[in-house]
Amino acid sequence: MHFCVEKLLQWYDNHQRYLPWRQEINIYHTWVSEVMSQQTVLAAVVPKFSKFIEQLPTVYDLAKCDEETLRQLWSGLGYYARARNLQKGAKMIIEQLDGCFPQSYDEWLKIPGCGAYTAAAIASICYQEKVACVDGNVIRVVSRLLALSDVWSQSGQSAIQAYVNDIIPAERPGDFNQAMMELGATICRKSNPLCDRCPFQQSCLAFTHNCVTQYPLKKPRRTSINIELFALIIWYKKNDTFAFVKRTKGFLKNTIGFPLVSTDEVAELESTLHSLPVQIFQSTNRFSHTITHHRISGRIAIVQVTQQTTDVALILQKLGFLAPIDWVKRSDIIAKLATTLDKKAFQLFSMQNQ
Ligand code: SF4
Repeated sequence: MHFCVEKLLQWYDNHQRYLPWRQEINIYHTWVSEVMSQQTVLAAVVPKFSKFIEQLPTVYDLAKCDEETLRQLWSGLGYYARARNLQKGAKMIIEQLDGCFPQSYDEWLKIPGCGAYTAAAIASICYQEKVACVDGNVIRVVSRLLALSDVWSQSGQSAIQAYVNDIIPAERPGDFNQAMMELGATICRKSNPLCDRCPFQQSCLAFTHNCVTQYPLKKPRRTSINIELFALIIWYKKNDTFAFVKRTKGFLKNTIGFPLVSTDEVAELESTLHSLPVQIFQSTNRFSHTITHHRISGRIAIVQVTQQTTDVALILQKLGFLAPIDWVKRSDIIAKLATTLDKKAFQLFSMQNQ
């Protein structure tokens, strides 16, 4: 099929959405926006991006930002590991590259958290390098244009990558990549595609054969993993504060929030607490949460303490965690919790302990 790049770019010039990072090319802004947009919808990214850039306007600010601020700025976007990688990348750029951004696709690939897609987006938008981005939107558009059903296997992915590599132009490769993604996001949508507004209606094989919704075939589902866990809510009732730890093990490792432990660990903890002035209550109610292919069935264990120091350190030590990094007031807690799982656990706590 002959693909008309000019038609695509013309459509993009007339129909692209307003996005704050598109107003002028800025490598730092492009990098941050691309990392934020991985696995998060644009409607959630736009306000977060503006706040992030306002508070951390340069790569130097990002590199020296404290974890609490970074966590706040990332709250609501999910997958906090992306923020940690972004900061690692900023430190690497400053310490190893004298503050100069990588200059090519290959160099961007060396930056933590920067995979083939992100490196291609940055290199094509900021350096006009002719490297194609292939994401879910592009896969859907190409699969329909060419009526390709096998898009998820290794050979199907290679065929799509080869097709896009072939049509990406030497001039405006960054706009081409953004236009393909924009077409997929706004016109060639997963459900209810707007074919009557599509610049490629005449040449689209799926449209011609009246079978648009058959493409692409559904991605084979990964088997879900069921997890049972407890969020340990350590509560100093006297001043209504709660212990936050850095999760150094287990589920959501390296994030900050309530310690997450197994049913066995709670049972073991209960049997060892009798020597301490501490009370523990297990909830019978549950909260459920899904992270990628993990299906979590959660409960809370409330550990009520009478002091904030020794007892708590001892409890956490028994569970393999370090001492709390913070005691947070009830009024501040929802704003400070970075993960939805923690928020659901705390909502369950609040329902029982107003
Ligand atoms: S005609 Fe419809 S199915 Fe084909 S590329 Fe355009 S929006 Fe997608």
